[in-house]
Amino acid sequence: MSKFQNPVIKEITEKYRKIWAIIHANNLLSWDSEIYMPERGVSERSIALAELNVLYRELILKDDFVSLVEKGKNEKDLNMWESGTIRVLDREINKMKKIPPELLFELQKTSSEAFQVWKNAKAQKKFDAFLPYLKKLVDLNIQIAEKLGYQEKPYDALLDMYEEGLNTRDVKAVFDSLKPGLKNYLEKIKGGKFYGVHELEGVSYETSSMEKVNKEVLKMIEYPEERARIDVSPHPFTISMGINDVRITTRYEGYDFKRSLFSVLHEFGHATYELQIDPELDMTPIGTGVSLGIHEGQSRFWENVVSRTLAFTESVKPVLDKYLGFTSKYSPEDVYRYFAMVKPSPIRTEADEVTYNLHISLRFEIEQMLIEKELKPEDVPEVWDNMMQDLLGIKPADISEGALQDVHWAHGTFGYFPTYTLGNIVASMMMKKLSGKNKIYELVRNRAFKEIKEFLKENVHQYGSSLSPKDLLIKSFGKSYSPEDLLDYIQYKYINGIEY
Ligand code: MG
Repeated sequence: MSKFQNPVIKEITEKYRKIWAIIHANNLLSWDSEIYMPERGVSERSIALAELNVLYRELILKDDFVSLVEKGKNEKDLNMWESGTIRVLDREINKMKKIPPELLFELQKTSSEAFQVWKNAKAQKKFDAFLPYLKKLVDLNIQIAEKLGYQEKPYDALLDMYEEGLNTRDVKAVFDSLKPGLKNYLEKIKGGKFYGVHELEGVSYETSSMEKVNKEVLKMIEYPEERARIDVSPHPFTISMGINDVRITTRYEGYDFKRSLFSVLHEFGHATYELQIDPELDMTPIGTGVSLGIHEGQSRFWENVVSRTLAFTESVKPVLDKYLGFTSKYSPEDVYRYFAMVKPSPIRTEADEVTYNLHISLRFEIEQMLIEKELKPEDVPEVWDNMMQDLLGIKPADISEGALQDVHWAHGTFGYFPTYTLGNIVASMMMKKLSGKNKIYELVRNRAFKEIKEFLKENVHQYGSSLSPKDLLIKSFGKSYSPEDLLDYIQYKYINGIEY
């Protein structure tokens, strides 16, 4: 029986088709901009995308569509897919209504200028050049928070944009638990076998050989070729055109091959989420992943829980030896160590599993203080350096390794960073549940990737956005974001050093 039975909801999903088509086109154009578009195409492409956004807004705020959604809110006995459809649309309509288009336009315009300024400021290591933009972007975000409304703090409104239902209090509780735990583990890891740098980090490879490795690994974990692609872009990403067309990218730095390989595994996790949504939800408002945090949980699960293991290393080792060659003089245990090395570094994107969330903790605290006006933008570099010293015991060499390292603020996004940590937490919650009935390392060693995927489909993927992130976690894992599970996972792997 179809999941959509209620006549009002059926009418909504039919009308929604046009809106979905705009999202589909938007995603395809965005993908093309990163992969194929000639450089100067950007002038026309940015107009096309902006016009599509206007069209999207018009359609979703059309009187008859809005009143249909209002009608749906009063319908009785809706099933979870039907009520999920209403929840998602109501949220979107609300957001579109509350944020005036002029404010969105201002944010878009400021952030595209800010992006160019940030790039130069970072290259020249000059914070002052970016400062006026940081001030303006913080101010615009405060205005957006005020328009959206919030229960306790303005920052709540921003968090909720990226992770439905998330508030400052949730995030604070997460880091209050993670921070002391992770700092303590880091001390214990120092001097151990996972600590330091590995010589493979400096070894160069041929891009064409690494491409073969990535293709073969994707085949091994059964990336469905007839429904998915892999391409190359400077910043790896995943994008979905629909349940039967999901695309990932990776990059080739030419050295330290784990970066390229683990980007593939990370994006594969995102893609698998989109590919395993119940096909009946395709082209409906709930036919995509529910939030950034849950999504990142899927990517971190494949990148870290499944792949940064001895079991997985043993499986890929023959492929590495065949195409890269230079790995053959290392044992699987040694290559695994290369995959899992821990060392405090000033750069978030290069951070290991243990230190990564401390980088996020720092950004969360700074963002929150900026939005609450407890910290002046001009004081960010100093506060950043002090926090870095406290959390990781290191000092950035200059501002490009400090407060200017990430693109997020230049893009005008505040409240996004915490979803990275939620992802790591979700991955550890999934591992805990899966290991309860069947040890994940046995599954990986037996290359039972189908079984792992089935587990993910059953517990997370199939639902699409029908349940809110918190409801989904409670339904499948019996609790909301649980930092304790992440600490247990880190302890098991890096402190107890279980040889898996
Ligand atoms: Mg990701």
